[in-house]
Amino acid sequence: MASSNILEQAIADITIWRKGEQRAPHKPLLLLYVLANYQQGHARLFDYSTEVRDQLHSLLERFGPQRAQYRPDMPFWRLKGDGFWELENDEFCSTSGNRQPPAGELVKQRVAGGFDEENYALLIKSSKLIGSLAQQILETHFPESIQEEIADEMGFDIQQIRKVRDPLFRQQVLRAYNYECAICGFNMRHDHSPVALEAAHIKWKQYGGPCEIPNGLALCAIHHKAFDRGSIGLDENMRVLISEAVNGGGIVARLFRDFAGKQISLPMMKGNYPNETFLEWHRREVFL
Ligand SMILES: [Zn+2]
Repeated sequence: MASSNILEQAIADITIWRKGEQRAPHKPLLLLYVLANYQQGHARLFDYSTEVRDQLHSLLERFGPQRAQYRPDMPFWRLKGDGFWELENDEFCSTSGNRQPPAGELVKQRVAGGFDEENYALLIKSSKLIGSLAQQILETHFPESIQEEIADEMGFDIQQIRKVRDPLFRQQVLRAYNYECAICGFNMRHDHSPVALEAAHIKWKQYGGPCEIPNGLALCAIHHKAFDRGSIGLDENMRVLISEAVNGGGIVARLFRDFAGKQISLPMMKGNYPNETFLEWHRREVFL
C-alpha cells in the first residue's frame, strides 16, 4: 500500500551517485520537474525524448555543477531502483546486468517514465503532498537562495522556505568581516542593525560544509545570491572570479565586473580566513 509517509521516506532515501563530494542533483531536479508538472495536471508518464531530455538538460545546466556533459538519461533510468518510479517500453532496450542502455535507445524505443500508479494517485489528489515533497527535496540538495529560485520558477506552493539558520554562525561571520560585504563593502545599517547583509556558506551545508567562520563569508544579499548561484567564485588568493555567463546593464558591471580580480576584504585574524578546501569545493561544484 502506498502512503504519503512511505513516499516521503522513499524520496529521502533515493540513491544518489556520489563520487567524493561532487554534487549530483540529477535525480532531485528530475523529481522536482515531474512534481511541478503533476501539479499542473500532467498525466502519470513522461516521454523521455520529448518531455524530459532537453528540459532536464537545461535544469542541470542552470542548477547543477559545470560538467563536460550532462546525462539526463541517467536519473530517468536509474530512479526505477528507488521503489516508486516506473518505466514503460524499457523492456525493448538492451541492458546487460546493471548497465543502462545507451541514451539513444530511450529515444528510439519511446521510453516513458513517472511515479507508479499508487503513488501517482496519492500525488494528484494532494497538492499539499507535492509541496511538502518538493520542499523536502529542495532542502536536502540546495542552499536557501537556490531553493527559492527553483520553487518560484517551478511554481511550487511552498508556504515558506524554512530558514534553518545557525544564529551563532551568522553573528560570528558578520563580526569577523566587520559587518561589511567581503566583496563590495556594502554596510548599510538601519539605526544599529545591518540590512541585507548575510553570512554565506562557502561549502554548502547540504554537502557537509560546517557552520564555522573559515567556511563563511559576509556578503550583501546580491553577492550572496550570485555566489550560491555560481556567478561568483574566489581563486586561491581570494580574488574575485566572475563567471563569463554574467551579463546585464551598467549596474551589473559595477556590482560584478568592477570587482573581478580584486581580493576580498579579509578578517583581521588569519585563522578566520576562508579555508582553501571549501573555496576549492565551491569553484569545482558551484562556480560556473
Ligand atoms: Zn556585496
